[in-house]
Amino acid sequence: MTKENTIGRRRFLTAAGAAVAGAGAVSTLTRSASAQNVLTIRKQADIPYKPDVLVVGGGPAGIGAALGAAGKGANTLLIEHHAFFGGVAAWCLGMPINQMRPGSKSRSKVHELVLEKLRAYGDQAVRVGQHQLWCNVDYLKVAVLDALDQVGCKYLVHTRAIDAVVEGGRITGVVVATKRGPAVIRAKAVVDCTGDADVAYYAGAETMKELGSLSPITLCLNLTNVTREQVRKANIRDIARKAKKKYPLIPNGWGLGKVSNGHSFYINHAGTRDIGQFDATDPVQRTQAECQSRRQVLQMVQAMREFGGEELKDIELIGTGTQVGVRETRRVKGLYVLTEKDALSGQKFDDVIAWRSGFLDIGFVRFSKMKIHDVPYSAILPEKLDGLLMAGRCISATHVAASAGKSMGNCVATGHAAGLAAAMSVKKKCLPRELKVGQLQDALRADGVDLTRGGESQDRLDNKG
Ligand SMILES: Cc1cc2nc3c(=O)[nH]c(=O)nc-3n(C[C@H](O)[C@H](O)[C@H](O)COP(=O)(O)OP(=O)(O)OC[C@H]3O[C@@H](n4cnc5c(N)ncnc54)[C@H](O)[C@@H]3O)c2cc1C
Repeated sequence: MTKENTIGRRRFLTAAGAAVAGAGAVSTLTRSASAQNVLTIRKQADIPYKPDVLVVGGGPAGIGAALGAAGKGANTLLIEHHAFFGGVAAWCLGMPINQMRPGSKSRSKVHELVLEKLRAYGDQAVRVGQHQLWCNVDYLKVAVLDALDQVGCKYLVHTRAIDAVVEGGRITGVVVATKRGPAVIRAKAVVDCTGDADVAYYAGAETMKELGSLSPITLCLNLTNVTREQVRKANIRDIARKAKKKYPLIPNGWGLGKVSNGHSFYINHAGTRDIGQFDATDPVQRTQAECQSRRQVLQMVQAMREFGGEELKDIELIGTGTQVGVRETRRVKGLYVLTEKDALSGQKFDDVIAWRSGFLDIGFVRFSKMKIHDVPYSAILPEKLDGLLMAGRCISATHVAASAGKSMGNCVATGHAAGLAAAMSVKKKCLPRELKVGQLQDALRADGVDLTRGGESQDRLDNKG
C-alpha cells in the first residue's frame, strides 16, 4: 500500500481554488518560486449552477448519490467528465449490473427508479435477472437522464474535477475543467464518486493504493454475426491456446455473454492480468493500459476468426468501450476501513448505512463466496477532511475488501446513502460527520432500504460479480 504525496500539493490546491474563485479573467497560480512551475490561467468558465450538494462522477455510485440527494430535495449538481452517465456500466457494453435486486426484491427507491426508467423503453432496453439487469447501454444512458430529470437533479457532462478548494480543513468547492477553461464550483457538501478518489486526493485526504497488486484493467468489447448456438459450440480456451503464439496479448480464455435481449454479445475478460501492472491514475501507465488493451481486443477478435473454426470464422467486432474498465485504484482512508474478514463473516455495524452482496471478486485473480455485510457510515467519511463523503469503488476498504461486493448495485447503494447524508447535513447546517446516524438510517428506511440484511449467507446466487 502506498500513500501518495499530498502535502506540498494541498497548499497549492488551496491557493489554486482561491485564485480561480476570486480572480478576474486572467490569474496566475504559482506552485513554487521556481519560474518553471508557473501555471497561468487565461480563461475562466462561468458555471450557472450554485449547488448545495455536488456529486463528482456519474457512474453507479454517482447516479445513486445524485438521485438520493436530489430525491431528498437538495439543490444537487452531478458532474461527469465523459459525455454521458453510467461509468463502467456504460462502457463495459452490456455486462450485468449486478446486485440491483438481490433475491428479485426491491433494494431501494433509487435502484427501482433506474429500473423503472429502463423498463419504460421496453424489452430491448433491459432484461431483469435474479439480482441483475442486463442493459443495452445506450438505453441505460438515457434512462439515467430520465431518472435525474424526475428528481430535479442538475447535471453537466464534459466537466472534469481537476482540483479541490479546501478551507480550514473542509472542502468547500471543486475546480473543474470545461471547454471554456477552469471554474470553481462551490458546494456545502461534496460526494466523491470518481471511482479513483480524485476529489479526496486533490483535497489532501489520505488515500490507499496497492501498487504491485492492483486488479486487472479490462477493455470490454461487443461482437456480432454469431449465434448463441455457435457460441455454445466454440471452445474458447482451445482457441486461446492455439492462437497465443501469433497473438501474444490475448488472455487464456474468455466468455461471450448476451447483451440484453438483443443478438450481440459482450466480453468481459482478464484484460491486463498477464500483460503487466498498470496504475490507472498514472498518466503514462494509463496510456499504456489503454493502448495495449485496444491491441489486445483486435488480437482476440482475430484469434476467434482464424482459430475458431466454422462457428466463429465470421464473427465481427461492433465496438469497444469508451475507455478501459478500471477495477481498482485509490480508496479513501475513512474513519473505519472495511476488511476481508468483515466481508467473509457478514459483519454488522451499529452505524450501518448500506450493505454489499455478491462475491469477493478480484477480477480474474481471486473469486470466493462472502456474506452480505454492512457498510458503516464511518467507511464513507474520510478520516480527517470535512465536507466530503465518498461512495462506490473508492470507499474506505482494504485491497481485498474493495473487491468484495464491488458490484454496481452495491455502488448505487453506498451512493444513495452518501447523497442522502449530504442532503441532510446541508439541511441541518452541520458537517456530514456531525449528522446523527439514526436520522440517516430513518431516511434510508423511508427510501425503502432494509438495513437488517448484514450477516445473510448467499447460497442461491446465480451469477457472479
Ligand atoms: C472490467 C470490469 C468488469 C466488471 N464487471 C462487473 C459486472 O459484471 N457486474 C457488476 O455489477 N460490476 C462489475 N464491475 C464492478 C463495477 O463496474 C464497479 O465496481 C462500479 O462501476 C464502480 O462504480 P463507481 O461509480 O464507484 O465507479 P465508476 O463506474 O468507475 O464511475 C466513476 C465515474 O466517475 C467519472 N469520473 C472519474 N474521474 C472524474 C473526475 N475527475 N471528474 C469528473 N468525473 C470523473 C468517470 O468518468 C465515471 O463515469 C466490473 C468492473 C470492471 C472494471
